[in-house]
Order: sequence, then C-alpha cells, then structure tokens
Amino acid sequence: MTAMINYTPRPNWLRASVLEACAKHTDVLKNSAEAEQDQEGFFLYDLDYLEQHLAMLMKQDVIKLWFAVKANPLSRVIQTLAQQGFNFDVASQGELTQVLAQNVKADRILNTGPAKSKRQIKAFLAQGVRTFVVESLNQLQWLNQAASELSCQPQVLLRVQLQWQEGEKNPLGGNEVTPFGLSCQAWQTIKVSDFPALNINGLHIFQWGNMLSNERMFELWSQMVTPLLSLAEQLEMTLEVLDLGGGLGVDYLQTGQGLSWQQIVASLAKIKARAGVSELWLELGRFAVAEMGYYVTSVVDRKENFQHQQLVLAGGINHLIRPAITEQPFPVAMIRESSASPVYFDLHGPLCTSLDKLGTLAIASDVAVDDPLIFGLAGAYGFTESMPFFLCHQIAAEYVLQQGKIEQIRAAQPAAWYLR
Ligand SMILES: *Cc1c(COP(=O)(O)O)cnc(C)c1O
Repeated sequence: MTAMINYTPRPNWLRASVLEACAKHTDVLKNSAEAEQDQEGFFLYDLDYLEQHLAMLMKQDVIKLWFAVKANPLSRVIQTLAQQGFNFDVASQGELTQVLAQNVKADRILNTGPAKSKRQIKAFLAQGVRTFVVESLNQLQWLNQAASELSCQPQVLLRVQLQWQEGEKNPLGGNEVTPFGLSCQAWQTIKVSDFPALNINGLHIFQWGNMLSNERMFELWSQMVTPLLSLAEQLEMTLEVLDLGGGLGVDYLQTGQGLSWQQIVASLAKIKARAGVSELWLELGRFAVAEMGYYVTSVVDRKENFQHQQLVLAGGINHLIRPAITEQPFPVAMIRESSASPVYFDLHGPLCTSLDKLGTLAIASDVAVDDPLIFGLAGAYGFTESMPFFLCHQIAAEYVLQQGKIEQIRAAQPAAWYLR
C-alpha cells in the first residue's frame, strides 16, 4: 500500500529558503499573540522567488505579458510584477484602484470582464484606462459613446466565444455557454466603422483552464487561428493584436506534468506568425504567481473514523476555498521533519459543512495535534477567492518573504472586525 502513495517529505514546491524563514519567524514570535493568530492560518508569499520567476517569463520578445489581478491582488505582489515589466488586467473598480495605488500608470492597464456597466466604463476612461476587452454589443456602444464624450480613442479587443458543431473534433472538450464574450455570429452583426471613437484592432479568446501539456496547448491555440482570422475579415478589421488569455496550468495534483515556458514561447511565435498579428498577448494568473505562495495552518484534532484517518485543521475553505470548488487540492507537507511513513489523511477545515475539505493527501503518519502544515502553489486563488466570513473565524494574515526577511503586510483580524 505505502509504496503506491505519491509522497515526498520535502517536495520541490517547498523551497528550503521558505522553511528556513518559517522556522525563524516561529522563533521570533514565540508565545506572542501573533503566534497564536498564525496557528489559525496565514499566507506567505516568496517575493524573492517571484522576482526570479517573472524575470524568466519576461526574457523573450514574442509575448506581451499582463497579470490577471484576480489571481492575487496583494499590493506587494502587484509591485513586484510592475517592477518586472508586467502589465495588468483588471475586472473591477476595486482591482483598478488597487493597481493604480501601486503607482502603475493607467496605460499599463486593460479592462476585461462581462460585467462592465455604462457607469464603470465611463469611470475607467476617466481614470485613464485606454485598453478594453469588450464582451457584448452593449459594452461596445457604451464605450463608443463615453469615448466620444471624452474625446479619446481607446483600443478595443473583441472577446470571442467559439463552439464546435456536434460530431466535430472539439478542442475545448465541451460546448458550455458562458457570459464571457460573444459568438462569431453575434459579432458579425456589427460594422467596425459604426464605432468611430474606438480603435478596434484585436480579438481575445480564452476558454480553457489549467492546461499542463505543451502539445495540447499548441493544438488548442492552432485551432483558434482560422475562425478568428475569418471573423476579422468579415468585420473588415485590421487584426493587429491577438490575446489568448490565461489558463497555463500548474501541477496541483503533483503528477510531474508541467509546461515548459520555452516551448510556450516557441509555440506562440508560430501562432503569431500564422495569425499575422504584430502583438500577441497573454494574461497570466496562476502561471505567474501560484508557485510563490504558501498557506500555513495547524492541526486541531486527529481521529480515525470508519477507517478514514481524519485531520481537522484550524483553517480550511474559509481561507482557501479552491479545493472544494475544483476538486484539485493544494499540495501539502508537514513543516516539522519526520521520517515516519506516509498515510492518506482527509484534511477537514473548521467550518460546520462537509464542503470544508482541503483534500485527501499523504502526510507522515506521526502528524499530531498542533503540528503546522504548509500548503504549496497557494499564491494564486487563495486569500481573495475564499469564504472568510462563514462561522466567524479569523481572517488570515498575509506575509511576504523578501531578501530573506518575513514581513507582515496585513495582520490577522478577528470576526469582530467585520461583524455588526
Ligand atoms: C482569470 C483570467 C485569467 C487568468 O487565468 P489563469 O488560468 O489563472 O492564468 C486570464 N484572463 C482572463 C480574462 C481571466 O478572467
């Protein structure tokens, strides 16, 4: 049995510098109120690693890179991305305010999202945003009107949603209709010349998630080129920009699969040439920031129940909801060293709902009450995606690790902070 367990006590995602910093941090805090708060759960972002990783992503001249802010809107994360030359994709006023507050100029920001109201479009233009991914005919009209009132000419990419006929080889693996963008048929009803206040020069498509195979990713992108080029021709638009969204995967399930960035760059150079565009854009979320992040919480109880080994943790989906809504756990390790053989544990959080489960994962069999556990790949879709209010637990603190030092960016807060 044990031989079949996918387990390494010190997996690759758990960097030695992070463990060292955690140990020092625990030492410094010993017996303080902060140490008690940390036991409930906190996030730690390794900005030293992030900096190196982003520098590697920027070392190419094929792709213009944007950061999908929803993946992690923490100030210091945005600052690190900005310093490394990333641009920013925002989908709400809150995200825009946060990015501008980090001294990022509005000309490095684009606005995507199906919920752009007339009011929001005006407000974004007034704040200097000049690049929009438009997702409906209303958005197009409202943007054209607001731009002509303000005498500016924003750049516009139309967001396209493709479907494949029944029986045809479907590269997307399903034809779910989403609110993201419009079909080619719907876009074909417009004339670019009817929107003189807009510079409509690009198309955007993004209908896949967490891709882990270079071959499959290339195949998928390849199949987008023909329908997009014919749409551009029908609309009589000069296609200068192709935006292929995000969806580059990280190996949550620790299968050993992963994308090679060099190969992505080579694939996209081909796509760019085939599409004949001068700019190719990606908005990365998890591929940019997942690996730099950690979530640490501790064991509150351990029991055996109907042959299941159960750990009840101080923090669960109140801090980290993604495993419950995707069935992909974040990988876990025990911070303390142990040579005990691994056992599968059901990892439950503190909320009184069966939804609150962070996965069934292998941990050293001697894991005990009060042991801290560390989850990896938690730099994306962690803190802001979760459900922190349910059952009135503590809001998790966020720390960064920079130049080997841990710094608290936001302290933990008790429920009294938001309850009225
Ligand atoms: C969420 C999102 C992304 C980022 O997705 P990842 O899979 O995390 O890379 C990119 N573009 C748009 C429009 C998104 O909504």
